[in-house]
Order: sequence, then C-alpha cells, then structure tokens
Amino acid sequence: MPAPLTQIETSAKLPHTADAVIIGAGIIGAFTAYYLAKRGMKVALVEKGRVGAEQSSRNWGWCRQQNRDARELPMATKSLDLWERFAVETGENTGFRRCGLLYLSDSEEELAGWARWRDYARTVGVTTHMLSANEATERGRVTRRRWRGGVFSPSDGIADPANAAPAVARALLKLGGTVHQGCAARGIEIAGGAVSGVVTEKGTIRTQIAILAGGAWASSFCRQIGVRFPQASVRQSILAVASNGNALPDVLYTSGVSLTRRGDGGHTLAISGRGRVDPTPQLLRFSMQFLPMFLRRWRNLAPGGMEGVRSGHEGMSRWRLDRPTPMERMRILDPLVDAGQVKLTYARAVKLIPELDGCAISAAWSGYVDSTPDGVPGIGEIPGIRGFVLAAGFSGHGFGIGPGAGHLVADIVTGDAPIVDPAPYHPNRFANSTWGKVADF
Ligand SMILES: Cc1cc2nc3c(=O)[nH]c(=O)nc-3n(C[C@H](O)[C@H](O)[C@H](O)COP(=O)(O)OP(=O)(O)OC[C@H]3O[C@@H](n4cnc5c(N)ncnc54)[C@H](O)[C@@H]3O)c2cc1C
Repeated sequence: MPAPLTQIETSAKLPHTADAVIIGAGIIGAFTAYYLAKRGMKVALVEKGRVGAEQSSRNWGWCRQQNRDARELPMATKSLDLWERFAVETGENTGFRRCGLLYLSDSEEELAGWARWRDYARTVGVTTHMLSANEATERGRVTRRRWRGGVFSPSDGIADPANAAPAVARALLKLGGTVHQGCAARGIEIAGGAVSGVVTEKGTIRTQIAILAGGAWASSFCRQIGVRFPQASVRQSILAVASNGNALPDVLYTSGVSLTRRGDGGHTLAISGRGRVDPTPQLLRFSMQFLPMFLRRWRNLAPGGMEGVRSGHEGMSRWRLDRPTPMERMRILDPLVDAGQVKLTYARAVKLIPELDGCAISAAWSGYVDSTPDGVPGIGEIPGIRGFVLAAGFSGHGFGIGPGAGHLVADIVTGDAPIVDPAPYHPNRFANSTWGKVADF
C-alpha cells in the first residue's frame, strides 16, 4: 500500500492570468501559495499529480529544531509557530502538535554531538535537555532497557504527512486561490529577461511570477531554461503499522530505528538516513558536487538500481512545451520499496519496543529525498530571470520547515520584510563550483 494521503478536490478551470503561479503542490508549494493568497494575490497552484502525493506525504512528520544546521535553525523555530498559527487562523487540521522529541543513545560520540548542539542552540534561545542515563532510561521505559543518555526537545513536534499539504491547499481554496491537480507545468515563458507565463499541459497562465516548488523534479525543470540547479535524490523506504491498542510513545529516535505517531493512531517506523542511491544521468552530471555529501553519509547509503532512470525525474532530455513531458508519464513519483529495508526496520522496531509485536504493517512506501550539495534548500529568485523563484532541494528537512519556507518565498515575492535572513538559501551559491559546508544533521 502507498503512503496514506487525504484527497482534495481540484479547481475546475485553469485561469488565463494569475499574480503568481506555484509549480508543485507539496508542503512547500502549498504554504507558499497560502501565504501569497493571504496577502491578496491571485494565485494558481498547479500539480502534475495529487496534492502532497510525493515527499510531503511520505515523510516521518517531524517538525524539529533539534540538531538543525545553524543555517536552518531560525526557519525551523519560526515554522513551529507558523504551524500553530495556521491551525488557529484556518481551522484546518494538519495534525501539528508540540509533543517534544525524544532521542536515546548508547554512543558517547552521538551524545557528545547532541550536547555540542545543545550548547549552540542555547546561544540562539532554543531549549533542549540532555538526559542522564537514569532520565533517558525512565523516558524510554517502553524499550525496557537501560540507556546511556539522550536528549529531549520539548518545543518540537510532529504534524501528519497524510493531511498537512491537503489541509493547506484547502485553506488556499477558501482564500480564493485555485488548485489544479493532474496539471503539469511544462515550462515557463520568458520575455525581456522576465517571466511572462507558465505553460501547463492544460494551457498557459499569463503571470509575472513563477515559483518552482517541484521537489525532486526541480533540477530537470530548471535545465529546460538553462538554469543550473545541482540536485540529487536518495530513495528511502519506510512503513506504517496500525495501532494494536498498546500505549506507545508519540516519537522516539534511536540510531537503529525510530517511530512516530501518525494521525490515524498508528506509527511510522523508519531507519534514519538509510537509503539507496539510484544512478541517473543527473546524478552523474552533479556527482562531483555531491561527493562531500555522499562521503559524509556513506555508512547509511547503498547502491540502488534502475529505479531512478525508470522514474524519469533526473533525466537529461529537453522537453517540448507542446508535447507530454516525463512529468506527465510519472504523475506521482512512487519508487520501488526496498523490501529488505522494510523487513529490517520492522524487526529492529519490534526488538526495540516489544509492545509493537503484533502491530500489523498497514503500508510500506518509498520516497526520493531531494538534496542539494550542502543539504540546505535553494530559495530565492534566479538571477537573470525576473520573477522566477526557486524553492526546492529541502534535503530531507522540508516538511517541518514548510510553513517558514513558504512564508519566506511569499516575503521575497511581495518584497515584505523576510521572516528569516534569506541569504543562506540563495540559489546563487549553486552557480559556483565551490562546495558549501555539508549540513551536520
Ligand atoms: C522517507 C522520508 C522521510 C522524511 N522525513 C522528514 C521529517 O520527518 N521531517 C521533515 O521536515 N522532512 C522530512 N522529509 C523531507 C520532506 O518530506 C521534504 O523535504 C518535503 O516534503 C519537500 O516538500 P516539497 O514540497 O519541496 O516537495 P514534494 O512534496 O516532493 O512536492 C513537490 C511536488 O511538485 C510536483 N511537481 C514537480 N514538478 C512539477 C511540474 N513541473 N508541474 C506540476 N507539478 C510538479 C510533484 O508532483 C510534487 O507533488 C522526509 C522525506 C522522506 C522521503
């Protein structure tokens, strides 16, 4: 079974004009469109498949500051507030709540890393508590074993990936925005160095603002208009179990396996960072840029197969705007599940938390995590194409920071004071061949 996802209705008619067209209705595109519509702009959100059907419904649902890279921490903090505010101002349910995140470990090295991060976080006003062996063992009592230590971040939380992007899209509809599913944007039209329209499979929308929130498809889309955006993806496979009525924690991270409560009461089980690298033409193209990233994470990565080529999101072909594109052949990127990883994840989870035994596997799925070379997203207007704004490459962290990222894109477009400093995210850095520091976590 694929990742659970709430379905929403599509707007009937593609508009001829819009103040802004947002390409891709994952969590980033949905929040961007919402914040623009809130400022009175006429926005159209176009999605080749279904709202939230790619990464944004396939993730764990963690909305965390804990262990965030310094470049992303301010956005993570703002996002937690925005998740809360969104529920209050719209009445929509994303499943967000600040349940706190619990990490347990027996590794001195891992604990030392968390302690270093705690010291840094304090300097920017973020509170997180290192746990002694007794405290960690007490908080992790569901595992029925002793731990060397841990960390608890009380102000972090989770939202429900099955509901979040659809809830934001519904809020957008209430504001008068339009949402078009089954509608791939094939390209943008540029006149005099500025965006003049977005060409979709259902017609062209005249606009001066095109925002590309296309997740794992962003790099190949950019290439069509001569923009270099180094992006690579890793295939991660995870599973969900139904509740068996036993009391289980909302969230728990260990390096072996982690679990997260889902909106339906079941849990997502996953191994952090574990994934397969499927070779693709795009991966070869950007391999040098990604070397530091892969070297840093190699312990968790295994070679994949032809899945990336079959999926078509990292091809090198040029698309014609009057013909179906690879995006119309692959409406929803739903790559092959790594059955071995699912089996291993389940076995580790049951070993860690005996109460999970007997919980039936309700779904298993995989998703391509789209990454930049430094693990920090690319957000900002592309130099040389006025009105073309990139918001992609969220490197496995985009769900939790979705509201902040969407807000920042809206700020950039409207010229309002940015919610966080946009400098660390600027896509300018991808034009250089120098590699930024790879994000720590
Ligand atoms: C297994 C897994 C676990 C994760 N866990 C977490 C977590 O716990 N916390 C966290 O913060 N992040 C997590 N992430 C990362 C997070 O899910 C992503 O960073 C985030 O969802 C990215 O959102 P997005 O909107 O950029 O991309 P997506 O959700 O992938 O959305 C992009 C959308 O654009 C559409 N699209 C692309 N091109 C076009 C086009 N030309 N025309 C129309 N539509 C187009 C696609 O169909 C897609 O729906 C995880 C990811 C995975 C896979």
